[in-house]
Amino acid sequence: MDLSILGIPMDLGAGRRGVDMGPSALRNAHLARTLRGLGHTVTDLGDVEVPLPETVDKHAGSGLVFLETILAACRSAAEQVAALPEDTFPVTLGGDHSVSMGTVTGNALRGGSPRRTGLIWVDAHTDYNTPQSSPSGNIHGMPVAHLTGRGDPQLAGLGGGWHLRPEDIVMIGIRSVDAKERELLREAGVKAYTMKDVDQLGITRITAETLERLAGTERLHVSFDADALDPSVAPGVGTPVPGGLTYREGHLLMELLAESGRVTSLDIVEVNPVLDTRNQTAEVMVGMAASLLGQRIL
Ligand code: MG
Ligand code: MG
Repeated sequence: MDLSILGIPMDLGAGRRGVDMGPSALRNAHLARTLRGLGHTVTDLGDVEVPLPETVDKHAGSGLVFLETILAACRSAAEQVAALPEDTFPVTLGGDHSVSMGTVTGNALRGGSPRRTGLIWVDAHTDYNTPQSSPSGNIHGMPVAHLTGRGDPQLAGLGGGWHLRPEDIVMIGIRSVDAKERELLREAGVKAYTMKDVDQLGITRITAETLERLAGTERLHVSFDADALDPSVAPGVGTPVPGGLTYREGHLLMELLAESGRVTSLDIVEVNPVLDTRNQTAEVMVGMAASLLGQRIL
């Protein structure tokens, strides 16, 4: 397969600094070499240009912190991804999870016209806040709501009128949801597998149900937030939550998705080298990407 790597070194949507170094950490953990080792052709497109927070007006635009800058970076990521050939598999590197507003949009629009896109959101958090519901105001807790057309009109308008259907979203690994966010999720009908579901049903059944649910979508995007994994496996994240996916649960999910042959793009986000131990989290996430892209035990 032809893979294209694109970094979005942005930490403006998060409360803690450092995930802007995520793309470097993942490259340092031999992402390209690992994927080439699986027989893929890999092109690294470099990074989307993101200004340093110190150089921009934090409050430009509406009330959201760094809205203008995040909007510009997401737009740029969306344009670059949308311009890639249809048979390319984009591997996009965050950055905080707000980058996915750009990457998911770009992937849905790739090939000229919008395609019905399924989203598998692997995360401790549902990231379904709107500016009104969010307790923190951090945009990285809001990307999924905006992808479905809710929230700030500018962020929700990134796809030029294209939006994800809530029924085409499946979340896995969930264990931290804000009170108002919970109501919004219920209202929208987004399917979320919590860690309780993972314990009870297991990853095999959850993956099968997920693929079944998203069978009608033309494209399938996996957005993998490193904090979905247990902090003992992936300590280098800004918002660690105990009780996450084990190393093997993460790999099994990726392996089963790989076997389905349906996934068409991937984000790896929220890797924070400042909080990491010897780049462990980036290395673990490169392993997850490899499993999604065909690495097998036998
Ligand atoms: Mg997230
Ligand atoms: Mg998260």
